[in-house]
Amino acid sequence: MMDVSRLTETDGGLARMHGATAATRKDHPAVRLPDENGRFTTLSHGELDHRSARVAGWFHAQGISKGERVLLCAPNSTVFVLAYLALHRIGAVIVLANPAYTDAELRHLYIDSGARAAILPDDRELDTPLWVSAEQALPAGDPVPAVWAGPDDPAVLAYTSGTTGIPKGVVLTQANLYSSIRAVLAAWRWSARDVLVHALPLSHQHGLGGLHATLLAGSTAVLLPHFDPAEFTAHVVESRATVLFGVPAIYRRLLAEPDQLTTLARVRPRLVVSGSAPLDAADCVALGEVFGQIPLERYGTTESGLNVANPYAGERCPGTVGLPLPGVRLRLLEDSEIAVAGPQVFPRYWNRPETSEEAFTEDGFFRTGDLGEFDRHSGHLRISGRKKELIISGGLNVYPREVELAIEAHPDVAEAGVAGVASARWGEEVTAWVVPRPGTRPDEAGLLAHVAARLAKYKCPKHIHLVPDLPRNSMGKLMRRALGAKNQ
Ligand code: AMP
Repeated sequence: MMDVSRLTETDGGLARMHGATAATRKDHPAVRLPDENGRFTTLSHGELDHRSARVAGWFHAQGISKGERVLLCAPNSTVFVLAYLALHRIGAVIVLANPAYTDAELRHLYIDSGARAAILPDDRELDTPLWVSAEQALPAGDPVPAVWAGPDDPAVLAYTSGTTGIPKGVVLTQANLYSSIRAVLAAWRWSARDVLVHALPLSHQHGLGGLHATLLAGSTAVLLPHFDPAEFTAHVVESRATVLFGVPAIYRRLLAEPDQLTTLARVRPRLVVSGSAPLDAADCVALGEVFGQIPLERYGTTESGLNVANPYAGERCPGTVGLPLPGVRLRLLEDSEIAVAGPQVFPRYWNRPETSEEAFTEDGFFRTGDLGEFDRHSGHLRISGRKKELIISGGLNVYPREVELAIEAHPDVAEAGVAGVASARWGEEVTAWVVPRPGTRPDEAGLLAHVAARLAKYKCPKHIHLVPDLPRNSMGKLMRRALGAKNQ
C-alpha cells in the first residue's frame, strides 16, 4: 500500500527530482524521439539533465525568472523535452500549446497567460519579444542549478475550452503533477526497467504524464510525434516496449491492421493503458486477445489529473474505468455528476475567479462534468454520460461553442450549432448545422476553409449541414443533443 502522505512531496520540483534520477541513471536511455533535424535520437537521463541545464542558463540570461510564463508549442521532439525541463529548472510556468493550433489560437494563449517568451515552429506568426525556434537546436548558456519549487507553485498552464468557447488556463501545481504520477507509478508497478511507447502529444496531460513517469522512475520512453500503425509497431518491437499508452481511436486503428497485430502480439508489453475517451467494450476484449491482457482503462481530466483506473493485478472490467487511485476522493453528486478531490486536483483557472468558484462544490470537490455510476458487482466506476457539452474526436477534446463562434464569424452565417456524431473511426465526429443569413448560400468548402484559418484541424467540422433553423428549448437555449441525434 502506498503512503499517500508522500503524494504531494515535490522534492523541490521536477528538475531537481529528475536531477536526482539522472545522478543514478546517468547513461540509461531516457527518451527516444525526433531531434531538430527530424532524426530519431536517444538521450540518456544524464544528457537530458546536462543539456537542459544549459538551455535553462540561456533563458535565465534573458531575464526569465520563477513564476513567469513561457509558451511551449512543439511536436514531440528533443526540443520539446529539453525546453520543458529547462523551463522547470528556472521555475517558469509552462504554457502548453498543441502544435495543431492556428496562429489565432496561439495568440489567445500567449496573451491570456501573459507569457514573456515563446518556443514556436518557424512558420508561426506571433508577436513576442523573445522567440525561440522549435525547429533548431535550442540556444545554450552557462548551466544553472534548479530553483526550489514548492508543492503549490504553478508548474504548467494547460488550456481547455468550455461552455463559453474561450480557452481558459488550468493552473497545475507541482503537487498536482507529481501526485498523479506518483499514484500511477505505484499502482502500475512502474520500474526503472520499463520502456513506454506512445504517440500522444506531450502538449496534453495524457502524453505528458508518460514523460513525467519516465523522468521520475529513471525508465525509458519512445515518444512518437504522430500515430502511424506500422511505425508505432516498429518502435514497439525495436524498443521492446513494456508499457503502451493510447487513446481508443489509436487502438481501433491497430485492430484494423492484422499484420501489425501479429507483430505486436509477439512483444506482449506488460501493461497496455487506454484513456481520454471511452474504450468500446468489444475493442477492449479484442485487444485482450492480442496482448494477452485486456487494456487497463483509466479516467481523468486536465483539471483533476489522473483519478480512476482499473487495477493492475486485480480484475479489469471492460466498460468501466476502475477504482480511485491513491489519494483521490471521489463521489457522485445528486445528478450523478462525478466529483473529485485530492492532491491531483487543480486549484483554479488562470485569472478567472468566478469560473474557478463554479467549478467546485462548496466542500471543494471538482465537478468533472462527466456522469457516472458504480458497478454493483465490482464497485468500479462506469462513465455513463457527459453533462458538459464536449466532443471527443480521436481522443482530442473539442468544445462545440468554440467551433460555433468560429463559424459564426463568417459573414454569410446567421447562426451555427455544433455537436458530435458517433463515428467508428474517431469515436465522435465534429459536425455543424449552419443557418445562412437571408439571401446567402455559403458553400461547405468555403465555410471549412474559414474555420480552418481559425481553429486547429482536429476541431474543424467533418460535415456541415445547411438548415433553416436550429432546435432551441423554450428558454431559447440551443439543444445540441437534438442536433447530434439527427445524424446518429
Ligand atoms: P481532458 O481534459 O482532455 O483530459 O479530457 C477529459 C475528458 O475526457 C473527461 O472529462 C471525460 O469526458 C473524457 N475521458 C477521459 N478518460 C475517459 C475514459 N476512460 N472514458 C470515458 N471518457 C473519458
